[in-house]
Amino acid sequence: MRKDISTPQYTRSIIDKHKFTFKKSLGQNFLIDRNILDKIVSTAGITSETGVIEIGPGIGSLTEQLAKHAKKVTAFEIDLRLIPILKDTLSPYPHVNVIHQDVLEADLHDMIKNDYSEIEDIMVVANLPYYVTTPIIMKLLTEQLPIRGIVVMIQKEVADRMAAKPGNKNYGSLSIAVQYYAEAKSEVKVPKTVFVPQPNVDSSVISLTLRKQPPVEVTDEAFFFEVVRASFAQRRKTLLNNLQNNLLSKDQKPLIEEILQELDIDGRRRGESLTIGEFAKLSNGLLKLK
Ligand code: SAM
Repeated sequence: MRKDISTPQYTRSIIDKHKFTFKKSLGQNFLIDRNILDKIVSTAGITSETGVIEIGPGIGSLTEQLAKHAKKVTAFEIDLRLIPILKDTLSPYPHVNVIHQDVLEADLHDMIKNDYSEIEDIMVVANLPYYVTTPIIMKLLTEQLPIRGIVVMIQKEVADRMAAKPGNKNYGSLSIAVQYYAEAKSEVKVPKTVFVPQPNVDSSVISLTLRKQPPVEVTDEAFFFEVVRASFAQRRKTLLNNLQNNLLSKDQKPLIEEILQELDIDGRRRGESLTIGEFAKLSNGLLKLK
């Protein structure tokens, strides 16, 4: 039987055979550890009923393990040089469809409507290119796709920020942006040694389970996120200072103070101590000053 694509020897032989050279600018760090791949697949809860969307299949090491469990896999790869390689490595898996496209430009609603109309359980699974992690995840979270969730390998530092809770030093506007749409859990820390070439940073697998609806009631979503960003603009400053410097004007200070008092939120607190519920209350309250 053929070896897994992810074995270091097989990966090397594919790279040599196709004279492939890694592009750092595309975040090309390929996984060569079967245990980590198994962990990703099991965390995502892939079954024979699941349709998977993969981003950046590389030479197909994760795609292969997904294909062994899933009903269908659709993989978006930006690098044209990898398309013939994937045709070769994934030839035993006819239920895998590789699309040569930048995922940020892909119409995922359309793809799901056309290819996954009979599939109820859809997961996004990937070892993401680190240069573009946050835009990809925010696209997946905000487009209201009919997916159960997202399980991805990303830079550990970014995973820690996405999953952080109030009071934690990593808690910030990214934590709230992600947790507004999904339940976030950092699953496992991954050492650099499981990739070729090795990246400069540690990685983590994070799971994001999509919420059916946001955990808080927000009157104006865009303003809610503006309030959150302003509250974290200068982390050492108090909430009141951040709001008057970065959201509203100085002469509105007495009004902001009044609203904070009404809401029972102490303006001397720092943004990092506020829960997502308190940010919702705050943005709904401040809306009249907008
Ligand atoms: N899945 C493979 C693995 O685990 O070995 C490769 C992962 S590698 C970290 C990221 C992959 O994403 C590369 O193959 C890269 O060419 C691809 N990529 C980078 N930017 C992309 C984008 N905007 N859209 C789709 N694929 C992208």
